[in-house]
Amino acid sequence: MSGGSTDLHLYNTLTRSKETFVPIDPNNVRMYVCGPTVYDFAHIGNARPAIVFDVLYRLLRHVYGPDHVTYARNITDVDDKINARAARDFPDLPVRDAIARVTETTTEQYHQDVAALGCLPPDIEPRATGHIAEMIALIETLIANGHAYEAEGHVLFDVRSWQGAGDGLEYGKLSRRSLDDMIAGARVEVAPYKRDPMDFVLWKPSTEEHPGWDSPWGNGRPGWHIECSAMAGKHLGTEFDIHGGGIDLVFPHHENEVAQSRCAHGTGSMARLWMHNGFLQVEGRKMSKSEGNFITINELLRTETFGARKWPGEVLRLAMLMTHYKEPIDFSIRRLEEAEGALDSMYRKLDDRALAAGGSPDPRVLAALANDLNTPEAIRWLRADIADGADGEAQLAAIGATASILGLLQSTTTAWFDGKKQSAGIDSDVVAEQIEARLSLIAEKNWGEADRIRDTLLQQGIQLKDGKDPETGARITTWEVRQ
Ligand code: AMP
Ligand code: ZN
Repeated sequence: MSGGSTDLHLYNTLTRSKETFVPIDPNNVRMYVCGPTVYDFAHIGNARPAIVFDVLYRLLRHVYGPDHVTYARNITDVDDKINARAARDFPDLPVRDAIARVTETTTEQYHQDVAALGCLPPDIEPRATGHIAEMIALIETLIANGHAYEAEGHVLFDVRSWQGAGDGLEYGKLSRRSLDDMIAGARVEVAPYKRDPMDFVLWKPSTEEHPGWDSPWGNGRPGWHIECSAMAGKHLGTEFDIHGGGIDLVFPHHENEVAQSRCAHGTGSMARLWMHNGFLQVEGRKMSKSEGNFITINELLRTETFGARKWPGEVLRLAMLMTHYKEPIDFSIRRLEEAEGALDSMYRKLDDRALAAGGSPDPRVLAALANDLNTPEAIRWLRADIADGADGEAQLAAIGATASILGLLQSTTTAWFDGKKQSAGIDSDVVAEQIEARLSLIAEKNWGEADRIRDTLLQQGIQLKDGKDPETGARITTWEVRQ
């Protein structure tokens, strides 16, 4: 352990309280986060769990050592939305090929998106299609021990079969809902073969237009929830430390994962700690295609959809982390501008000096993160450190270590400002020509024309800065992008 004295206090959805985090095995701290269903570009709401749990992963690696943490984030590549997309986009291909095209392309896009947001790749990225045998085995166990039943080609989990020790039904403990609440609140698929309306599908039959696998219940495919139970169990064991995802997953997805895993393995928990990020909405409204405020990560980073410009990935990352992970986020251009301004001033102050590895992070930042991942406070300290102390080598190393736990400031100052020029769609050669022309006009004392060039550039968001070469005394002009 590199900094083993840091006690982490993390909020547990299961107990609805902040708890001191005690890993089952400090030499292998295990975390599972539900990953994307790969049928389309991920949206900026999906970016939130990727970023939040990346910070937690970085913090765990710092505290327990990089070799002592296992982070698994799955790819859901079996899902009816994928099938529908494949049929729509590739109607002429055989079903399996069409599905493969959709899932491979979308997975690749997701990797590019989260890399651009500064997220480390997880240690394990299991795919549902690679774990069908494990899912079938899990379902067989559940049938054998009386927690699941077969009906008309489906296999269903029997929610009423899971009685706790003495205090009634165990199903519903994570989301704290009774069966009556669930039935009232959910769009329950009523099917005559269900024993209880809340019984959920573990396996369902496939037809020609769906991918199918042979199973003891005929050709079929798994339900969504069993996918995560099988992948988490295989890679992290029957009980592990942290399970994460967005708050919308608590019910029914995580409730069902817990039911399946605990009933199959006979364990007291699936994960010890359940963590959920709050939801993100855009300019005051739930993000939705029909509202016209639906933004993909790709659009934000690579097209001029939001605010008529592209945004660097690090801006989105910081914009997310300025809010505590449990709070809702109201996403806006203003928020992005605020994050960008903060990054500009930090990078400017660092002035291309290397943030050497090997320093010790600011203990105030660590304390903030150890307090249920208080990233807004951690960022305030990081900014303060840079504002008043980015001088000596030791300070720079400390800032480097601090920034790397947050996954921020991973570029150089030059790369940051160059990236912004690119995002702004500015052609550096053209700007250089304009600067040359202006310097010639100044040499000719044609101030009016020189100023006109300066003002035109400023209207395009390009600010010129005049200075002198310290050696030759010659006038030089540099530029940066202002928003
Ligand atoms: P999905 O592909 O919809 O299953 O979502 C992938 C992850 O993104 C899950 O952890 C969701 O909880 C999370 N998520 C989806 N929409 C939002 C949102 N608007 N804000 C925050 N997290 C979200
Ligand atoms: Zn899951």
